[in-house]
Amino acid sequence: MSSSLTFYGGVRTVTGSMHLVSNGKAKVIIDCGLFQGRRDEYYRRNSHFPFDPAEIDACILSHAHIDHSGNIPNLVKQGFRGRIVTTSATADLCGVMLPDSGHIQEEDIKYLNKIHTRKGLPLRNPLYTRKDAEDALDYFSGHLYHKPVEIADGFSVTFYDAGHVLGSAIPLLEAGEGSKRLRIAYAVDLGRRNIPILNDPETPPEIDYLFLESTYGGRYHSSVDEAKDKLAHIVNTTVKRGGKIIIPSFALERTQEIAYYLNQLLIEDRIPDIPIYVDSPLAVNITEIFLRHPECYDEEMCEAFKSGNDPLGTNRIEYITDVQDSKRLNQSRKPMIIISASGMCEAGRILHHLKNNIENPKTTIIVVGYMARNTLGRRIVERHKTVKIFGEEYKLRAKIKVMNSFSAHADRNDLLGYVQPLKGGVKRISIVHGDEDQSQKLHDLLEENGLPAHFPEPEERLTLS
Ligand SMILES: [Zn+2]
Ligand SMILES: [Zn+2]
Repeated sequence: MSSSLTFYGGVRTVTGSMHLVSNGKAKVIIDCGLFQGRRDEYYRRNSHFPFDPAEIDACILSHAHIDHSGNIPNLVKQGFRGRIVTTSATADLCGVMLPDSGHIQEEDIKYLNKIHTRKGLPLRNPLYTRKDAEDALDYFSGHLYHKPVEIADGFSVTFYDAGHVLGSAIPLLEAGEGSKRLRIAYAVDLGRRNIPILNDPETPPEIDYLFLESTYGGRYHSSVDEAKDKLAHIVNTTVKRGGKIIIPSFALERTQEIAYYLNQLLIEDRIPDIPIYVDSPLAVNITEIFLRHPECYDEEMCEAFKSGNDPLGTNRIEYITDVQDSKRLNQSRKPMIIISASGMCEAGRILHHLKNNIENPKTTIIVVGYMARNTLGRRIVERHKTVKIFGEEYKLRAKIKVMNSFSAHADRNDLLGYVQPLKGGVKRISIVHGDEDQSQKLHDLLEENGLPAHFPEPEERLTLS
């Protein structure tokens, strides 16, 4: 029987990455991410798998972001009993991120059920609980980069560095035998070159089929140096106004990266010495995991650690875990920088900081990451006049600054640059993980450059040869 790919999730949209690879003998999925969106669609799409989870032999996980890993607890809850194969750093990160996600699901349902009780509607169960997430961790197996791992009958995988977040990988999946052996690489998500902390993305050898992300398939980022200048400028002007700087940030990578830049700006005396807080227990746990995985660092970061520097500013920046300490930040009216999760402003302590500061025109909210459709973060980026936080309307009076250059995603130039050397060898480049217009723009760009671009429909099945 021939091998095939089925594009299930993160197709013509950004979140919910999940794809199936079959070689006729075994079935493997790559990623099992949470789809983000309006509540009803969120529950429907995340709680129903388009296959029987018990029939899947293994799950390959590219990295720990929730839109790639966040539905694994549900997969296990619904009968999956194979191995979840990933890098060691990703396995460690999931050890804190998935239980946190379970906790968020429980809190979210508690809130929803209060409203349902009031309206006499049926109560709902969480998508999964913290306990479900902890149970799923038993199936994880963490591996080093560049070492092939046998995962199922006729399938092996080798992880290459994706340079996107700590532990992120481009899995190279080998399916079939002998001359029929096919090599499928999965560059979803793909990092940028020259970002701090991480290595540049690698290209696995002799790729037959490539999955390629397209989050910024139609857009360009400014350079990292420009980003640092802009950050300094925003901090300085906000401090002059006497306002607070609120940075919604993914607990993984972006928080550490922003901490890295702020720490550098302080050392270079380019911003005033105001308090800087990372207010997210998850980010604190993740920063500890960063310190345990030097195998993922680039040279500069390794050097900084070896010479006893403190590149993540863990001594200068205050990391907050306690709720009372978090609340205290709201009592102070002095300028300060608060970095808090969740990145898309859908849950977590960032909501409290937004609630308390969003109506103050002195405040600056810096958007440093991708905001999916129908999230509070997207409404902030789109500068809606009012936004709902915890069910109440607030006037959006704060200044909004968007800084895409902190993106952990390759932009249009980076993506083209990544695939150009594959010309002549690769049979198909399937474009996924992007809003439709972005994916379409990248598709057209690759075609113009003579590359075999493919823009799959959701649930499309591609036979491999
Ligand atoms: Zn990611
Ligand atoms: Zn992603």
